[in-house]
Amino acid sequence: MMGNRVVFGKVLLIDVPAVKLEMCGNCLDDVKTNYPKISQLVVAAIIKREFPKVEIRIVDMKSAAPCNEVKFKEIDYGGNKIDVYRVGQDFSAIESSVKWADVLIFTNNFTQEAGVVGDLIEFCKGVNSRAKVFVGGSDAMVKRGGVDRQAYFYSRGADRVASGDGEITLAKLFCGQAVVGSPILPDLNSVPLPSFDLVDLSLYTESYEGVVLDCMNPPLMYLETSRGCRGSCDFCSTPFTKGKYRFMSQNKIEEVLTYYKSAGISTVLLCEENILTRLDWPGGRNLVLSWFDFMRDNGFRWEFTNGVEIGRLMDSERLDETLIEALFAFNDLTGCCRTYVPFERLDRLVYRKLKPFETEKEILASIARQGVPALNLGVIIGHPLETQESLDITERRLKELMDLVLLESKGKSLPYAALLLHIPLPGTRDYTRFCREGRLAFDINKDPELFSIITSVVNGNVFSCYEMTKIRKEMALRLNSKLALRV
Ligand code: SF4
Repeated sequence: MMGNRVVFGKVLLIDVPAVKLEMCGNCLDDVKTNYPKISQLVVAAIIKREFPKVEIRIVDMKSAAPCNEVKFKEIDYGGNKIDVYRVGQDFSAIESSVKWADVLIFTNNFTQEAGVVGDLIEFCKGVNSRAKVFVGGSDAMVKRGGVDRQAYFYSRGADRVASGDGEITLAKLFCGQAVVGSPILPDLNSVPLPSFDLVDLSLYTESYEGVVLDCMNPPLMYLETSRGCRGSCDFCSTPFTKGKYRFMSQNKIEEVLTYYKSAGISTVLLCEENILTRLDWPGGRNLVLSWFDFMRDNGFRWEFTNGVEIGRLMDSERLDETLIEALFAFNDLTGCCRTYVPFERLDRLVYRKLKPFETEKEILASIARQGVPALNLGVIIGHPLETQESLDITERRLKELMDLVLLESKGKSLPYAALLLHIPLPGTRDYTRFCREGRLAFDINKDPELFSIITSVVNGNVFSCYEMTKIRKEMALRLNSKLALRV
């Protein structure tokens, strides 16, 4: 320690291997390894800015060895055995880097990877007991509603688990100061440009939304121009993990995109959840239009990886055709290559952000007419009150939406039924309720690998979690059949 400042000379950022689940020899989902690790790149940039003398290395264990699989666990899933694999580098492959470092930083956004992070922390502590381990991320930071994810990571050997924007918390952690609550930036204009110089960008060739389409031009890179949310959906952790809604100015967006372009990136994955919340601000619609005009003028292609709140594209029963065209039109290899459309629930209107089915259909038809090559229609099933009747409504409506996409796009857009199981995200109202009602069939600390969109852990009134996993798979196969990019 020097004064209040901890002297850390060498920092290692680690992205852990991916999790793969196999039931009766069949892989339950396609595992992605080579997607861009934007959290690492931004964290590295923050450290560089705050502590210019610190040496930083990045280890991306997924993309360094995407074909290497190690089975590390078996889970009894209602009488069927699930084999659990790590996909990526062996722990021993990073031993020398771990020995080199004074600080190891992990970001855990997905509960499914929490066990792998915990195992690797224990390995690292065994190899280098003097290194400090810091953990952040949407899963790790949650301490709310009777669930304490931070305690899990402390129990596995973490020295500090922080909540809030890294731009604020990292400096505090490095200086040995307390992080009180979840501090967040007032806007995103001070977010640094990601440290592309520390990685091989050509490894970033995958998107979570499906196969990379011909119109996409890797390397791919995430772009986040806003954080947070003004909504409060029971299943979602964004309002309390990311905080209130904040966004970048047009100048800042242009600075970031110009930097991306200079690094040879022409396809961006838009990972924010609420692009259109800007419409609540005076001049917000113009801000959105200026941003997408700039991307078109500069030849960018993009994917809405986390979706767009499409209900906001219709106001007072009038479609905002200008905004729809700006966001979704695809032509001359510029524009929107793929979008996730979050319908969430089709059996009935549950969430405030959604519009009635007929209205959402009208908006989707307009999006399809823009020639977006791929439309992933996102629907959640497997909530505790699911019945055969609600499943039938969901399937019928999803089929109707897929047919509508084919019709309105004249076959140019490929619809995909992105059926997700209801994951109880720690800290959400759903998680608290499911715990209280005794519906969780698995312990989040013992089997975090099952907390995913393809394996249910929630027992409903009618269907068990095991039945729901099977139902999702069968429905996805029926709906996607010949059109499937992945099921
Ligand atoms: S689902 Fe979207 S609108 Fe709802 S709380 Fe999450 S981020 Fe906000």
